[in-house]
Amino acid sequence: MHIGIIGFGNFGQFLAKRFLKSGHQVSATNRSDYSKVALEMGATFYENTEDLCKQNIDCLILATSILSLESVVKALPLYLLKEKLIIDVLSVKSYPKEFLKRILPNECDILCTHPMFGPESGKNSWKHLSFVFEKVRIRNEKICEEFLGVFEKEGCTMIPMSCEKHDEYAAGSQFITHTTGRMLSQLHLKSTPINTKGYEKLLELVENTVNDSFDLYYGLFRFNENARSELLRMEQALTTLKHDLFDRMKEERRTTLLGIQGGNGSFNHQAALEIIEKYNLKSVELVFLITSEAVLEALNRGEIDFGVFAIENSGSGTVLPSIHSMSKYPHEIIELHDMKLTQCLLVRPGEDITKATKIITHPQAIKQCRKTLAEKYPYLKSDYLSDDYDTAMCARELAEGAFEEGTAVIASEIAAQKYGLEIAFKGLNDDPENYTSFVFCKRRER
Ligand code: NAP
Repeated sequence: MHIGIIGFGNFGQFLAKRFLKSGHQVSATNRSDYSKVALEMGATFYENTEDLCKQNIDCLILATSILSLESVVKALPLYLLKEKLIIDVLSVKSYPKEFLKRILPNECDILCTHPMFGPESGKNSWKHLSFVFEKVRIRNEKICEEFLGVFEKEGCTMIPMSCEKHDEYAAGSQFITHTTGRMLSQLHLKSTPINTKGYEKLLELVENTVNDSFDLYYGLFRFNENARSELLRMEQALTTLKHDLFDRMKEERRTTLLGIQGGNGSFNHQAALEIIEKYNLKSVELVFLITSEAVLEALNRGEIDFGVFAIENSGSGTVLPSIHSMSKYPHEIIELHDMKLTQCLLVRPGEDITKATKIITHPQAIKQCRKTLAEKYPYLKSDYLSDDYDTAMCARELAEGAFEEGTAVIASEIAAQKYGLEIAFKGLNDDPENYTSFVFCKRRER
């Protein structure tokens, strides 16, 4: 046969070499110049599609990228292609089928095919490799059969199948294969001295899939409507596995780990105790994780089972670090738990608040007490360390002597009790109805 090929890239060249080896004549064209490559293998290269189509070819293979099919076909010199067999080899099938039927004149025959192999898997032989095809519009059966015979003679397993069915199968097999290979390639896997056979197969898979162009992979996704749901299913499958592992670990532990934003003696601590009582949670161990980010991260890593962190205060408003962290990590909110907060000014035992010069606390606490502080303690300068230092930690540091003399902190009554500090003033919050909403959450359900 005299076979014309548009698209002389990776796959076009691969096909051409085998056709030539089997005694067929190949004429090709390509967006970039591959005349040298063509010459070396014994094919004839034409600078443009028009010149190629003027040759006395029996059929024309479209072997350009999936993404460029439309522009390539729209630029075809259709007047030269009357009664010719046009074949596509795209790795998606419904899309070219519908597009070619719509664009190509009735006089053109259309054969949609997908050789289920490529330069890697078909480098030695095509024997027993699958060749899927649908005769979409064929009048000249002889030429069509002759073309299919080329693959048959190579030993391919010929599979007549509708393009729609192909896409359904391909999304659940080929797209998953490529996605797995590309996903693993992100892990930069390396060969080790103790490779198992399975691991070597994985390394091979990575190599095979990343050798194909990203255009090809994107085409598999963009032009097969089944691919999107397969991608979501894959994501879901990993989450389910993660949950299975975490759940098994929890069973072994026999305790429930509740991670909280604050430290020991913080308002978060107080809120967590209320929640534990409300939900009658048994065998709970508290993990003091200080920030909401750390809580949500630990939840996602399976290190805790539940999380508690503040999200909003009636006076000082939204707790922005919590909102940012919530957008970063998946989780499921069980309840927003509201709790009344009484802020206290604490000093070391025996210290006189009138001699104090500064307050160190969390910025949220300062926000809630600004007016009262200005009225009652205008001489106290406010300072805070970082978001990582909640009110309870500041109280602990004060008790342990980490701050200079003359320092007070704002924290809860339970922090005063826990760290043996004196309450110089109770109810420092500007609004006596000072409420904070705490998120009580768990890992997102599978
Ligand atoms: P590809 O990235 O899908 O396609 C590369 C080819 O498309 C090159 O010839 C390239 O020309 C051309 N091209 C890209 N954008 C173009 C544009 N805007 N206008 C004109 N031409 C353009 O890689 P491939 O592996 O060679 O695949 C070619 C076709 O075969 C695809 O449709 C693919 O689905 C199908 N297929 C591939 C395999 C495989 O294993 N690779 C197997 C079965 C079927 P340049 O050289 O100028 O960039």
